[in-house]
Amino acid sequence: MRKSVISVAMAAALGISGTSLPASAHVTVAQSDDVIITTTELGDGLYMLEGRGGNIGISVGPDGVFMIDDQFGNIADKILAAVAEVTDEPVSYVLNTHWHGDHTGGNAAMAAEGATILSHDNVRKRLKQSLEVKGELEDGKTSLPVLTFSDTTTFFWNDHEIHVFHFPNAHTDGDALVHFKTANAMHLGDTLFAGLYPFIDLDSGGTVAGYIANLEAVATLADDETKIIPGHGPLSDKATVLSTIEMLKDTRAAVKDLVDKGLSEDEIVASDPLAPWNDNFSWQFIDGERMTRTLVRDLTK
Ligand SMILES: [Zn+2]
Repeated sequence: MRKSVISVAMAAALGISGTSLPASAHVTVAQSDDVIITTTELGDGLYMLEGRGGNIGISVGPDGVFMIDDQFGNIADKILAAVAEVTDEPVSYVLNTHWHGDHTGGNAAMAAEGATILSHDNVRKRLKQSLEVKGELEDGKTSLPVLTFSDTTTFFWNDHEIHVFHFPNAHTDGDALVHFKTANAMHLGDTLFAGLYPFIDLDSGGTVAGYIANLEAVATLADDETKIIPGHGPLSDKATVLSTIEMLKDTRAAVKDLVDKGLSEDEIVASDPLAPWNDNFSWQFIDGERMTRTLVRDLTK
């Protein structure tokens, strides 16, 4: 069952259509031609939206919608339709957990609807740089965050105390984690790929040590009841965080043994050191080879 949930979410993330969804009493589905938005209620006015790209979290209530990540611009209408299924209020804020396009692609569309875009300082810098490189900065002005933070910020919204905090150099150098304290829920952005090898973006300032340290901090904040929205994969909990930490430490140690023996990156890949983990954690985007190369590059940079 769990595998089938992952495959549906991943198929959606990769834009593969034609998947069917597992039946679940608390899940509602809005379907379009090729994107399915799945809405899961977490309680206390919180919902997780899965479509194509990074998972979205929303808080709904009388103050308006506080949204975490917004997937892609070309499915913004479907995301807004899914939001409208659970509230009449507009999207007031969108927090980007990091700069990747499958989490920020809907920014311009949400800003056009009146939302204020927020992020860590480095997310704005990297988004701006990426738009400049593509020559799209003029078009993309409204997609840039207009309010940024460096370390932590707190929102008092819809009767929540929403603690947003930055951990350096985990998935990228601009990751924001969101903690709904009273609701005992979190959105971890891509600092958690649930049950999957994570994408650790070394070229955007991510590091394996930072990724592990970040999850260890999350594990101290969470208890067994905490509902955790990962960047990719199904709704998760503290056990998923702990098993991810264990997998990362063990796979890094397996690769480090070979690095210490003086093997090259290609020789290490050829010896398939992650074979014991691949059945459980390999997926379309990060297979055993790509994870091995990430670990080697991280250890040898
Ligand atoms: Zn990402």
